Amino acid sequence: MADLVQQDGGSALAPFEFWDQMVQASAPIRDRTAAERADRIAVRHHTGKVAPRGAKGKRAGMAQALVIGGGPAGLIAAEELAKAGHSVVVADAKPSVARKFLMAGKSGLNLTKDEPFETLLKSYGAAADWLRPMIAEFDASEVQTWARGLGQELFTGSTGRVFPVSMKASPLLRAWLARLADAGVQVRTRWRWVGWDGAQSVFDTDEGRQSLSPDVTVLAMGGASWSRLGSDGVWADVLQDNGVPLAQFAPANSAISVDWSPHMQPHFGAALKSVQWMAGEFESRGEAVISATGLEGGGLYSLTPALRAGADLFVDLVPDVTATTLQDRLAAKSSKTTVSQWLKKSLKLQPQKIALFHEMSKRCALPKGQEANALKQLPIYGAGLRPMDEAISTAGGIQSGAFNEGLMLTKRPGVFCAGEMLDWEAPTGGYLLTACLATGRWAGRAAADWLDQSN
Ligand SMILES: Cc1cc2nc3c(=O)[nH]c(=O)nc-3n(C[C@H](O)[C@H](O)[C@H](O)COP(=O)(O)OP(=O)(O)OC[C@H]3O[C@@H](n4cnc5c(N)ncnc54)[C@H](O)[C@@H]3O)c2cc1C
Repeated sequence: MADLVQQDGGSALAPFEFWDQMVQASAPIRDRTAAERADRIAVRHHTGKVAPRGAKGKRAGMAQALVIGGGPAGLIAAEELAKAGHSVVVADAKPSVARKFLMAGKSGLNLTKDEPFETLLKSYGAAADWLRPMIAEFDASEVQTWARGLGQELFTGSTGRVFPVSMKASPLLRAWLARLADAGVQVRTRWRWVGWDGAQSVFDTDEGRQSLSPDVTVLAMGGASWSRLGSDGVWADVLQDNGVPLAQFAPANSAISVDWSPHMQPHFGAALKSVQWMAGEFESRGEAVISATGLEGGGLYSLTPALRAGADLFVDLVPDVTATTLQDRLAAKSSKTTVSQWLKKSLKLQPQKIALFHEMSKRCALPKGQEANALKQLPIYGAGLRPMDEAISTAGGIQSGAFNEGLMLTKRPGVFCAGEMLDWEAPTGGYLLTACLATGRWAGRAAADWLDQSN
């Protein structure tokens, strides 16, 4: 689950070293067909020439479709294009594809949320309108069918979150990449897209600068968080220079930074369960973990839009006890019993909750007798959002006014876009991958239709 991964710190990149080795080790098995297909792309060095015309497209013998970015949105777009009979190259800046997707599976890959379509759609807020047709065609049930089609056994948790039984992303990704290779999709890694030169897409690669002249392009370069996994948002400058309207990136599903006093140190790593978080008009019952830098966890992530807008953060440490009951119980406390003893013995609060209560009530010099109110609405003083690069996802990106209903950029006919690059946001719970897959599939289909129509 996204909620837990941020605790992982330094070991976070270990799975990629393993994955890179595995991808390299498995490469020769498919080498022959892959090598044949690899030559279909019209790779042009600055003085190179374009491949000849032929069978299905304008120029057979060359890749007609280029997908830039090999995350879930790009891979599903590539699959749709290949299914439609077009040759496809996926170019990715990193040494292997889908690194963020693999990271998402590190503590449980939450693929989607099994809930009615209209309920699911509401999670996308203002973007729900334009996402509607895409998610209607690839909703929670379709996501599950797709994952099962890749050999994944799934289960649905009590809150409707859907996971592979293995909890990991790697078995699914391995099966997916094999299926893509069988469909003729070529993957070029360490190919960083740096922009366009006329109709050509230009890349920085280990072999120097390379250009491709595809008939159609799908951009799927992700948002602007966890840049070490590939999604650094650098593409935004290129698109802006090309007149594509963008909304500024902002953290979504972000952890909270709090400058703790040394008293909190023994509680780092402890979970705050059965609490209710509040910020502006947002409320959430999920849990959060106390970390050295603040608070993190699914319970807090959904409050990010309110916190971004400057709302204060509060927590109800006893959401199942009413304010009146608490007040009565406090009034009944013997004068010899300290507040700490009362919190522990009468309310049976976990030590980490008591520590948080003291930490914050000291900061505001809580007047005597106000303890019950503070327990129900404890302000988290000094709470701010962690840096955007640490956020699970980002808001902002390509504005909906920049593309048509097929996700094609109006400023660049033949260029489609998908995934977290687009300006939408949603809480964790499987909504992120659902929209990435739905928009990727939609863009891939629209790009295939566009290719067919222009041939
Ligand atoms: C810790 C963590 C846990 C998560 N857990 C979940 C979860 O459980 N459920 C869920 O729904 N979502 C989860 N997410 C979010 C989810 O992983 C992302 O929303 C999703 O991966 C975005 O897909 P994408 O294809 O749009 O972009 P990405 O997956 O970010 O892929 C973009 C790709 O584009 C490539 N790229 C970028 N720039 C260039 C360039 N210039 N040239 C070439 N290639 C480029 C990158 O290398 C990358 O491979 C999690 C995210 C994180 C960080």
